[in-house]
Amino acid sequence: MTAISLSDVLDARERISGVIHRTPLIYSRTFTLISGVKVYLKLENLQKTGSFKIRGACNKVFSLSPEDGRKGVITASSGNHGQAVAYAARMRGYDATVIMPECGSAAKAASIKGYGAELLYCGTTSDQRISLAKEMSAERGLTFVPPYDDPCVMAGQGSVGLEIMEDLEDVAAVIVPTGGCGLISGVATAIKEKNPGASVFGVEPDGSNSTGISFRAGVRTALEDINTVADGIRTTVPGELTFPVVQRYVDDMLTVTDGDVLSAQRLMLERCKLLAEPTGAVSLSAILSGALPDKFKGRRVVALISGGNVSMSQLAEYLSAN
Ligand SMILES: *Cc1c(COP(=O)(O)O)cnc(C)c1O
Repeated sequence: MTAISLSDVLDARERISGVIHRTPLIYSRTFTLISGVKVYLKLENLQKTGSFKIRGACNKVFSLSPEDGRKGVITASSGNHGQAVAYAARMRGYDATVIMPECGSAAKAASIKGYGAELLYCGTTSDQRISLAKEMSAERGLTFVPPYDDPCVMAGQGSVGLEIMEDLEDVAAVIVPTGGCGLISGVATAIKEKNPGASVFGVEPDGSNSTGISFRAGVRTALEDINTVADGIRTTVPGELTFPVVQRYVDDMLTVTDGDVLSAQRLMLERCKLLAEPTGAVSLSAILSGALPDKFKGRRVVALISGGNVSMSQLAEYLSAN
């Protein structure tokens, strides 16, 4: 038994469909010519709040009883998940608290405040933030919304997989950027329980490949150091609930370099006029770098472009560096 099944993903989609965008799935002639793979891009960089994280956050927040909701929600992520939780809570009129690291970026703080959440600062590591969040949730009755290791969050993220299958026939493979594995566990559940013939691949940068290492070892294995430009997936170990789903449904884990990621990001901007954050371009980079097995040449492959949140000053640095 894994934490979620297809019916949870179908329920999630029903619950959140009035609020999220159904994002476009586009064919890219340019990337098809470059790679020999028929490349389709699922554009979650155009999703509300700039990433798919709104799907899981809404499914979790909308599943709360009104009593629990009125007490408020809390999370410890300063990035895309923090923005998504703030947005989801506001949709329901609930209070949200987001705990950021003391060194957190002003741009992210402004965006989270803009969605109406209260911001608190604590320490520098995610462990410090998560333990404060859990403490406050116990003391004040706030519901903690985990970034990936939660059945409602996983099922919400899986709704991306349903949309892909409805919008495209004969999908040979779907490629997913992988951090704590909430996204890939939901997407793989949707895809494999509907269409077991399609492959699902996770991709990580080589400086942050804890899921690949765990997948090969057959057991969750933590990394000591994380070093990657893909700041949405700097996770030291895959989730307790998500990893068994990865073991059951994911065909393989692929690895790319930061250089591959930044060059995919740049090409998307240059050729398709689409802005992805580095993490969002990780999936496309697996196709362009040749990490995807050759047998997919000539077949339909979907790269999930998971987010587009990058500040213009950071973008300028990435573009001038390569
Ligand atoms: C969170 C995130 C991911 C990874 O999702 P997990 O559920 O942690 O595996 C990928 N891309 C972007 C843009 C993200 O914000």
